[in-house]
Amino acid sequence: MLSSAFAFGSADEAAAAFRGEADAYIYGRWGNPSVEDLEAKVAALEGAEAAVATSSGMAAVTGALLSRLASGDHVVAPLAFYGESARLMRERLPRFGIETTFVDATSVDAYLAALRPTTRLVYAESPANPTLGITDLEALAQLTRSRGVPLVVDNTFATPYCQNPLALGADLVVHSMTKALGGHGDAIGGVVAGSRVMTEPVRDLVVKGLGGVLAPFNAFLIARGIRTLALRQERACASALTLAQRLSGHPAVASVHYPGLSSHPGHAVARRQMRAFGSLLAFELAGGLEAGKRLLGAVQLVSHAVSLGDVRSLVTHPASTTASTMPADLRARAKIIDGLVRLSVGIEDVEDLWADLSAAL
Ligand SMILES: *Cc1c(COP(=O)(O)O)cnc(C)c1O
Repeated sequence: MLSSAFAFGSADEAAAAFRGEADAYIYGRWGNPSVEDLEAKVAALEGAEAAVATSSGMAAVTGALLSRLASGDHVVAPLAFYGESARLMRERLPRFGIETTFVDATSVDAYLAALRPTTRLVYAESPANPTLGITDLEALAQLTRSRGVPLVVDNTFATPYCQNPLALGADLVVHSMTKALGGHGDAIGGVVAGSRVMTEPVRDLVVKGLGGVLAPFNAFLIARGIRTLALRQERACASALTLAQRLSGHPAVASVHYPGLSSHPGHAVARRQMRAFGSLLAFELAGGLEAGKRLLGAVQLVSHAVSLGDVRSLVTHPASTTASTMPADLRARAKIIDGLVRLSVGIEDVEDLWADLSAAL
């Protein structure tokens, strides 16, 4: 509902609303029917008690962290994951006395080794940007539960169609709704989902306090997108598997990273924890950086753009774009090599996509 403030029926009703005794809408930063409708949809999709929508995925990630952490606290997070989330933990949180250890997230032992008495949050993203690494979320959740440390999982790549981290034992799920939930490349938004005691502090801090409120029109667009999430994901995941298999056999391609391939090191775990393997894949060109740039210039149906989970297929070159702010040594440890190309598969006909990719290759 496109309204910033809501009329009260009486002065008594207004007073009761401010005391929190009446269930009334007051002001758009504190609540909006369209936003609440979307929150209920995402909570249902993730099997969560509650969800809180935010102005962007990064507002959700920031909220998941800042609502729980204080100076002196320690976080364990992946080496390879969404670039801006990594920057938040690497560059911004240290200013507030919050330190992060980055580990090989495909190894639960690596998480275990990094835990400290001051560790207050463990963070995972699976499949992870941009190398499609898989974290065993059930095993990691067992570890974090035994230590009483909350586990936050970014489920943007998998979507609730493929994976439900809360059912695997995670405490909080974050999404960039800009991606597959919205699905049409027209609205920025984010969400956190989990128990009410985990999500409400995010609403209080990020939405009400810091102002990271989702616009109601974006909530409407994203909720409309969610109506076709299952259909879009069914097509995109099937096409991604087909393209991954065909790329694996192409002479110009050195390797393909897709959890649905039996050659992927996380395949067995992915089979256990995912219903389908997602719409994202990455591949390394035998010709390295220059071959990657040529490919991006040659595709015609596939768009050369960042973002993912769109109805349109999108291709990017992480080393020179989204991962370019990472220090080179960290980028190397995260295995984001120069020839790596990331493909977000859309809902186009898979034969049209293959014709475009193979012509460009
Ligand atoms: C895009 C993305 C984000 C950030 O979301 P925005 O909506 O762009 O702020 C966080 N995590 C992952 C995995 C993403 O793909």
